[in-house]
This record gives sequence, structure tokens and C-alpha cells, in this order.
Amino acid sequence: MAGVRQVDVIVVGGGMVGAAAALALAQQDLEVALIEREPPAPLGGDDPFDLRVSALAPASIALLDGLGAWPTIRAERAALYRRMRVFDAAGPGDLTFDAAEVGRPYLGYIVENRRVQLALWSRLREFDNVECLTGSEPQRLDVHDRDVSLSLADGRELRAELVIGADGQRSWVRETSGIGASSRDYSVAAQILSVETAYPQQDITWQRFTPAGPQAFLPLAGNRGSLVWYDAPERVRARHALSPEALGEAAMAAFPEELGEITRVAGQAWFPIRRLHAHRYWADRVLLVGDAAHAIHPLAGQGANLGFADVEALAAVVASLGDRGMGDTRLARAYERRRRADNQLVQSLMDGFDWGYRRRDPLTVVARTAATQLVAGVPPLRRWMTRMAGGQRLGG
Ligand SMILES: Cc1cc2nc3c(=O)[nH]c(=O)nc-3n(C[C@H](O)[C@H](O)[C@H](O)COP(=O)(O)OP(=O)(O)OC[C@H]3O[C@@H](n4cnc5c(N)ncnc54)[C@H](O)[C@@H]3O)c2cc1C
Repeated sequence: MAGVRQVDVIVVGGGMVGAAAALALAQQDLEVALIEREPPAPLGGDDPFDLRVSALAPASIALLDGLGAWPTIRAERAALYRRMRVFDAAGPGDLTFDAAEVGRPYLGYIVENRRVQLALWSRLREFDNVECLTGSEPQRLDVHDRDVSLSLADGRELRAELVIGADGQRSWVRETSGIGASSRDYSVAAQILSVETAYPQQDITWQRFTPAGPQAFLPLAGNRGSLVWYDAPERVRARHALSPEALGEAAMAAFPEELGEITRVAGQAWFPIRRLHAHRYWADRVLLVGDAAHAIHPLAGQGANLGFADVEALAAVVASLGDRGMGDTRLARAYERRRRADNQLVQSLMDGFDWGYRRRDPLTVVARTAATQLVAGVPPLRRWMTRMAGGQRLGG
């Protein structure tokens, strides 16, 4: 049919995970079309920091390095952290994981989400087997015997062997292909403050658990940091209306003294927090990655890391395909087998932390203090947890 673009794979959604997936497949010489309705705006070195930042674990950094994007990301305002401290507002539980204890140079890097996305997009443009279709979104998906067709709202049409849904929590691909998901809202929202602090750059990220939800500090380059303040949605909405000065005062009053003085609140936003798991990661000629397949409580900063692990698994499965087509259900099954249990485990762990730390009854406080002291006092257990905190997966 005239005017129909034929490719091997269509990726819907060019966020961090979708862009990485498109790049990983392009590196395997596949013809890829990437559809993104809102491409990332440029982000100069003097621009305010992107409000969305992520703590990337070594495995994600290795993937981004293999995709050729990491040197650019690292060169531009990435902040390395070596230690991660977790403490309890309601009890003496206090635990610090240190990369040095497991012989690693770092536990991870805090990076701006948009910068990761931009670095991946810049690499995508170096491949002549990738076409980025921006400013439109898909309208119709039809699965045929030998391929799948996708029409965009602006009239463009594509055919491919496989469509990958990387279109985030509210995934159109997931819903249109009838995969469905179980989901529930947590009763908290996350307020993010991009701040300048009196303390100089630090190599520690910390998180204090309070009954209302965690309060986290993520160091950024220079005297900057990102605060993540989990709280009841009505309190978050009320604070959202405050002036930057009043918001800074409120944060200093509520956060632990480790925060020091906030000299400026440069930006703020808030997000509802929702957990979601797709019933399956695939349907006929459709496959899901990243938040389209699973969204978790962000308290330990693992969501994007899980998405990058999806990409790594997908790339490995595709590389082992031989001459079987991309639409072969063995690919989809092998991919889901590699990823579902890991995503489920991390999701459940986050729920466990959330539940355990929000309880104030004395018995639970004693139990979690004892658990923290056990990890802190038994070096092999602490080292194992440190490796997990640095993003190592079970069995890895
Ligand atoms: C407060 C907070 C803090 C977090 N901190 C961390 C952290 O420290 N570390 C970590 O690993 N993770 C963290 N996460 C999770 C992380 O942000 C997400 O897991 C990650 O951004 C998911 O990436 P994605 O590419 O799958 O989805 P998204 O980032 O949602 O990207 C989806 C893309 O698809 C596009 N799109 C959507 N629908 C369509 C459509 N119909 N047509 C075309 N394009 C479409 C969107 O424009 C977007 O670009 C945090 C999350 C929150 C809420």
C-alpha cells in the first residue's frame, strides 16, 4: 500500500525506557520506528535542573554505556553517590550502605530524566535504520497474521512485525491490545523540590521514614539537591500553592537536620503515586516495557532501573532469536519469563517497606528497629544489602 512505512519494530513512547529499547534494537540492525507525542525539550548546562531526577544503579549505567549514551549523561550534571542512609523518624533504626564496603567506586548516579532521554535521542539520530515520528500519537492498532499495522492521529501509517508499548503507566498500547493491568493508588503523593543548599555537594543520598511517608534527599551537582517529600495528597496540594520561600521554610521545618539550610527552592512539582502490574507483558505481536508493564512505589528509586533491566532482557532475547521473526511468541514468552518475577519481587518489597515504615504501633517499631540493627550488625548481610541497594538483582 502506498504511503505505508514498513519497519521491523514500532516503539510507542520515547521516554527513558522506550528510547533505550529503540536504540538497543537499532544496534541489532533492525528497522525501528519510534513514536513520541512530546519529544524532550533541549536542556542546556545553565538551564534550571529538570525536576524529574533518577538514581541510576550500576546495571542501568552499564546498559546506557553499551548504548553509547552514558558518556554524555555523565559529563552533564550527573552526581555520583557512594553511600545511602536509611533511618527511622519513629525509632533508633539507622543504616548506611557504603560502596567501599563491597569494593565498588559508587552505588549509583543521580541524573536528570530529561538529560538521559536527550542523550538517548541524540544517539538514535546517528542510526539511519531509526525513524523518530514526533508530535503525533497512535490511533488504531490492527494485528494481522503476518504483521501489525498502526495508524497515527495525523494520518501516517506503519506496519511492523512487533509493536513495543513503552508509553508509561497509562499505556495506550496495553489498553488497546486488551492486556489490562491491576493497579491501586497509594494514599500518598510525592512532592519534588529542586533546591539549592548551604551544604556543598555530597556523595550520600538519604531517606528518613516517617509515618506520613518517606522524606528523601538526592544530591545533585554543585550545592543542589532534589527533595522527595511523600505525604497525604491534601497536604501536598496545600504546600504546592505556597511561595518558593514558604515552601523552603516548610521543608526545613519538616526534614531532618541533615538537610541543612535551603538557600533557594528553584522548582517544585508533585505526582500521585500508583502501583500497577500488567496482567501479561505481551499479546499477539505486542510487548510491554517499563512503566507500561509495571509501576512501583518510588521510595527506593527503582522504577527506571527496572525498565532498563527490561530493555537489557529484551535485547538479549532478540539477539538469540536467530532467523525467527520478531512476532514469534517465543520471544515474548522468553522476555516475560526473564522479567516478571524480578519486577514482582521489587514491587512487593517496596510495598513491604511502605507498609512497615508507616506503622507507629510499638511492636512494629521494635520489630523494624531489630531488623535494621540485624542488617547493620552482621557484615555479610549488610554487604549483600549494599549490593542490592546498588541495583544488583537477586541471583545476579
Ligand atoms: C516521584 C518519583 C521519583 C522517582 N525516582 C526514581 C529513581 O530515583 N530511580 C528510578 O529508577 N526510577 C524512579 N522513578 C520511576 C521512573 O521515573 C519511571 O519508572 C520511569 O520514568 C519510567 O519510564 P518509561 O519510559 O517507562 O515511562 P515514561 O517516563 O512515562 O515515558 C513514557 C513516554 O511515552 C510517551 N507517550 C505516552 N503515551 C503516548 C502515546 N499514546 N503516544 C506517543 N507517546 C506516548 C510519553 O510522552 C513519554 O515520553 C520515580 C518516579 C516518581 C513518580
